Amino acid sequence: MITYSIGLKNRFRGITVREGMLFEGPAGWAEWSPFLDYDDATCVPWLQAAREAAVDGWPVPVRTAVPVNCTVPAVGPERAAEIVRGSGCGTAKVKVAEPGQTLNDDLARVEAVRDAIGSGQVRIDANGAWSVDDAVTNLRQLARFDLEYVEQPCAAVEDLAAVRRRTDVPIAADESIRRAEDPMLVKKLEAADVAVLKVQPIGGVRACLEIAEQIGLPVVVSSALETSVGIAAGVALAAALPELPYACGLATVSMFTGEVVADPLLPVDGFLPVKRVQPDTALVNAARADVARTAVWEERLSRVQKRSAG
Ligand SMILES: [Mg+2]
Repeated sequence: MITYSIGLKNRFRGITVREGMLFEGPAGWAEWSPFLDYDDATCVPWLQAAREAAVDGWPVPVRTAVPVNCTVPAVGPERAAEIVRGSGCGTAKVKVAEPGQTLNDDLARVEAVRDAIGSGQVRIDANGAWSVDDAVTNLRQLARFDLEYVEQPCAAVEDLAAVRRRTDVPIAADESIRRAEDPMLVKKLEAADVAVLKVQPIGGVRACLEIAEQIGLPVVVSSALETSVGIAAGVALAAALPELPYACGLATVSMFTGEVVADPLLPVDGFLPVKRVQPDTALVNAARADVARTAVWEERLSRVQKRSAG
């Protein structure tokens, strides 16, 4: 069992260092990396996902590679175009509604991405930042860049449903599924056209497959910003889904300044290979957290294990 601590190239969710644990079981390596601001109860499904990876293994894949999008953070238009061109991906996900920025910033960034990607797909993610009225008004302008969908325009699932009735841009639900008491509310309220699923927060590949079946929407698999060990679980889900009509948000290991596997899950021509990964001893040693952080994670794990058993 290893605790890792790896820097991020850019601040993400307010953090500059990603931490987590890696362990090996009979089925292979697993990652457990709930964000540090999550309470113990929230970490239980993350542990179920890690147990599945280490002990049970994953369902048989139905494809050998999965298409992925590149991610464009809230940067200026020139940098946005550079990221898209450098990625080799045919789909780009663009962050919008960044605090402190305006709709004009979003329009300039999305326009630059649309120009750079040509006939590829452009999707945007507002991370729940807009009101219903703002979403409808902003989407009216952003829609001219031919959007594949908008992810989580508003925070509340009721608001997603309201926006969906007032715009032609398809709606994807992300936080409304993984952080909701009842992910099926998205279905009941007809709040989305696409479901974004993440393996760790939902409790494993099989738990995600079950939601995918019940929710009756096309699925986009996204990462929770993991090392290649955790990303492999997302790839396993994307590989096991009966249908995969959209590119997945799994091309995120390039956001890390270090890695734990020698052959990381980086996209080639917009695709990730479906495979299990094996940590490399030298890389793991370089990524190992110090004694104090390791103790914090070991204590956290034992608390969550107790909660999970009880
Ligand atoms: Mg999202």
